[in-house]
Amino acid sequence: MRIFKFGGASVKDAEGVRNLLDILRLTGHDDTLVVVSAMGKTTNALEVVITNYFNNKKELKSSLQDVRKYHNAILLDLFDSENALNTHPVYKIVSSHFDELDNFFEHNRSPDYNFVYDQVVGFGELVSTSIVSAYLEQEGIPNNWVDVREFIKTDSYYRHARVDWERTQELISTGIDTNKLNIVQGFLGSDHNNFTTTLGREGSDYTAAIFAYALNAGEVTIWKDVPGVLSADPRFFENAQLINQISYREAIELAFYGASVIHPKTLQPLQRKEIPLYVRSFIKPSNEGTRVGKGIKIKPEIPCYIVKKDQVLIALSSLDFSYIMEDNISYIFKLLSDYKMKVDVIQNSAIGFSVCVDDLYNNMEALLLQLKAKFKVDCFKNVSLYTIRHYTDEAIKNIEQNKSVLLKQLTQETVQIVTK
Ligand code: ADP
Ligand code: ASP
Ligand code: MG
Repeated sequence: MRIFKFGGASVKDAEGVRNLLDILRLTGHDDTLVVVSAMGKTTNALEVVITNYFNNKKELKSSLQDVRKYHNAILLDLFDSENALNTHPVYKIVSSHFDELDNFFEHNRSPDYNFVYDQVVGFGELVSTSIVSAYLEQEGIPNNWVDVREFIKTDSYYRHARVDWERTQELISTGIDTNKLNIVQGFLGSDHNNFTTTLGREGSDYTAAIFAYALNAGEVTIWKDVPGVLSADPRFFENAQLINQISYREAIELAFYGASVIHPKTLQPLQRKEIPLYVRSFIKPSNEGTRVGKGIKIKPEIPCYIVKKDQVLIALSSLDFSYIMEDNISYIFKLLSDYKMKVDVIQNSAIGFSVCVDDLYNNMEALLLQLKAKFKVDCFKNVSLYTIRHYTDEAIKNIEQNKSVLLKQLTQETVQIVTK
């Protein structure tokens, strides 16, 4: 069994869907399950829809229309609509997804942003998989469209739902017919009330790993717009080089520090069952890409750079020059957790404690208010956090050049530098 995952960039237009077909023809599609994300930037567009629903109702309709139009153009490109009636059944299927979404907005009474978010963004994947499935069928590749919400069960922590592994494992291993080519939505699950949940932004890689785990797959391939895992994100660094192979451990570290090419939750289930992960280019599908596996040494052994922009550095010291001790630190962490801050780096000294965080839920002002009651607080917004794995003096120099360094922390393999 083999799991393929195609992300948003790979199916951003009709050409992308055709390319997906070409890849399946190239690699074969027996014993394969295909996970697909929302097309292009659909999830972002649906986030705009949700913002409009809560804050700008007069734009709601037109933002929904934008999402429909985008998919309609792809449909028109892929499926015959000669007689102007758009007779291919996929038009009806896609249209009914969007009608259901309209219906949700009409009837929803929940003021819970996170709940609404999951009910809405999920349509991106429902629509993309419907299009891909119908297109493959049309081109002579029979397949089975799967509603992933019947298989991945989660808690109700909307937007970052946690998988109920036992239930999910059972549902997948007993309910998925592996003799067929299955087309599955990434990113989605459902809770015990069968409401849609999502696994966190970019969570479709994780979906591939969940299926691989439950089906004891032989391998997972995630098809990307880059040649594989590179020594840096090519959007921010010149001369990024392909890493041919790395261990799970190394990939987990890279993903943890923010190398967004692999969703951080993807690796652990694969590692547990020693299922190799391949990261390959959908643009050059015959190239090998990167292999992630057990205990393999990073090759080539070069510094790997990761940057997280738009972070916040909070420097705390006690108001009365007393030491910052365990009780203070546990109080600070309780607040960070209550306000859902994602902690990147911490550093403490006798009377100071610094923490660099990602304010994913826009809770910074509320957090600062609480902290200021107990500590002297300096806050630096919009800072960048650079992490270098396997650093060299030269690599550090490269990063520090022309920037002011606010915090720096070295361990044997990793250096982290917060800059303004
Ligand atoms: P998907 O289409 O599956 O959602 P993503 O856009 O999430 O794919 O991931 C691919 C992107 O990850 C690349 O376009 C690249 O900009 C970014 N990226 C970040 N770090 C790395 C890295 N170390 N190696 C390769 N790509 C990286
Ligand atoms: N469509 C979702 C997102 O953009 C999930 C994914 O692409 O992995 O976050
Ligand atoms: Mg993505």
